[in-house]
Amino acid sequence: MAFEALTEKFSKVIKKIKGESHLTEKNMDEMLKEVRIALLEADVNYKVVKDFVNNVKEKALGEKVFDKLNPSEMVVKIVRDELVNLLGSDSCELVYNKNKPTIILLVGLQGSGKTTTAGKLALLMKSKLNKKVLLAACDVYRPAAVDQLDQIAKQINVPLINMGTNMDPVDIALKAKEEAYNDHFDVLIIDTAGRLQIDETLMTELKNIKGKVIPDEILLLTDAMAGQDSVNVAKKFNEDLKLTGAIMSKMDGDSRGGAALSIAHVTGVPIKFIGTGEKLSDLDIFHPDRMAERILGMGDVLTLIDKVSENIDEKEAKKSVKKMVEGNFTLDDMLKQMKQVQKLGSLGGLLKLIPGMPKINDAQLGAAEKEMKNFEVIINSMTPEERAHPEILKNSRKVRIANGSGKTNADVNKVLKKYDQMKLMMKQMKGKNGKFNMPNMSGFGGKFPY
Ligand code: GDP
Repeated sequence: MAFEALTEKFSKVIKKIKGESHLTEKNMDEMLKEVRIALLEADVNYKVVKDFVNNVKEKALGEKVFDKLNPSEMVVKIVRDELVNLLGSDSCELVYNKNKPTIILLVGLQGSGKTTTAGKLALLMKSKLNKKVLLAACDVYRPAAVDQLDQIAKQINVPLINMGTNMDPVDIALKAKEEAYNDHFDVLIIDTAGRLQIDETLMTELKNIKGKVIPDEILLLTDAMAGQDSVNVAKKFNEDLKLTGAIMSKMDGDSRGGAALSIAHVTGVPIKFIGTGEKLSDLDIFHPDRMAERILGMGDVLTLIDKVSENIDEKEAKKSVKKMVEGNFTLDDMLKQMKQVQKLGSLGGLLKLIPGMPKINDAQLGAAEKEMKNFEVIINSMTPEERAHPEILKNSRKVRIANGSGKTNADVNKVLKKYDQMKLMMKQMKGKNGKFNMPNMSGFGGKFPY
């Protein structure tokens, strides 16, 4: 995930400054020097770094932090607020028209993620915001772009204006607009062509589309992996098209994240969404405050809560909680619990949203995910009776299950041991306060039950 190294460095700086008994101009200068290095190493534009450090210092001096009761806490707050400013202050959610279709033009270089993101946006708007969405395929140059969008549209069951690759993109966009108005769509998302580099012919085509369809939003796709180059690309697209926002794709990659920190500041174009994976559900609304706190190692509990409430089937969760409290928790229930957690996305992404968690390394995460998959295979090899009454699982049954699932006896025992641990944990939790809400979440940060 982007920002990992930056988070690690910032966490260290914060820890150090919080440990100082007195804050002086000298140790603050030292802290700012480290902040400066951390940002530069994260590939943040040097001008942005300079502004950032100056602003933090100016604010700290302006607020006379040295005289205050908790000077280091105040400095951390100033750094956090400045980071939010850098990322674009408020969340800039899209505004939808009430009486006519909201038209969104996606632009960007080839490979930046336009086509994939057209599908991701359509899915997000359809499934989470209940919008009636129409897609339009106007990238008639990249081989297979139209087919790619056609497949995505079918996958998410969203209609697509597909006029092949022999038409003028301006005409396709106009046709899509007409259809969006006639059929009362809430949103029209237009995928446009990209190039490997900025190119005047492309810019002219985009300007023509813009002039004809008059979009409400022109969103630039920028690839987080592209580094500083993407800042210049964003500048040029903004000069020519007056962007209303940016979508940073591939934030799941191991880019240093500096471009994301620079783009909003250098161009004044707010980041509105971030792409966090190749799946069509991997798109998040961008919240500068949450991202700033994540970068500072404070976690992003709000996004975690969003993900949990979107993906956890509350009824199912309550049912299994009730069963646990009553002592009827079976292996089937354990499997259901595991699947609910799996639905939240990869454990890796999830754990990184929790304060104090970024230290878990990829190998450990990989092992946890593998273990969850093993459990599923093993439990699936059991009969319904065995799942409901694991106590009947004596040696011969275990051998059968191990053979059937392609695992070993030890693996089967591991599942049963975890099951016993979970049951015990439930009992203890119940003992403490008589009730609990999300037993599977209770393990995060402490002993993870799976
Ligand atoms: P386009 O040329 O701008 O239309 O780009 P595509 O939509 O075809 O995307 C280029 C590649 O990037 C594809 O392989 C996508 O699967 C991949 N991609 C797009 N967004 C993301 C993302 O957020 N994370 C990751 N890991 N890959 C992405």
